[in-house]
Amino acid sequence: MNCPKCAFELTRKYYKGMFEVESCPNCRGMWLDFHELDKLEDLAFDEDDRKGSLVHFQSRTEYPCPHCGMKLDEFQYRLYDLKLDTCAENDHGFWLDAGEDERVMELMGRRAGDTLRKINAEAEWKRVLKGMHGFLKKK
Ligand SMILES: [Zn+2]
Ligand SMILES: [Zn+2]
Repeated sequence: MNCPKCAFELTRKYYKGMFEVESCPNCRGMWLDFHELDKLEDLAFDEDDRKGSLVHFQSRTEYPCPHCGMKLDEFQYRLYDLKLDTCAENDHGFWLDAGEDERVMELMGRRAGDTLRKINAEAEWKRVLKGMHGFLKKK
């Protein structure tokens, strides 16, 4: 599989002990397969989290899905000002640019108190990923 952004070959790595991702050694972005997200432990979900106020589709990009080559759609996860690309045609997964996950975790850590900051941020990030997964699958 190749990077949708810079066409380097993606390498598999284990992401924060949660699941495997395909990561780009050149631009440091990563591809998350939906079936990998299925491995996230079940987390309680508020249906409200999935409503369109948080996730907003923008437009088709020129970047190809690493699985099927269809053009990815860009969408925005507003709460964290996070822009992601997803394979809307075939539900293959989504792409995170370099550092976007860290930025989100940092924002989450700031919201949580100092104690258990890191744990809270990671739990919250899992929740976000799981929520996007659910939202995108429903489309
Ligand atoms: Zn790349
Ligand atoms: Zn695809």
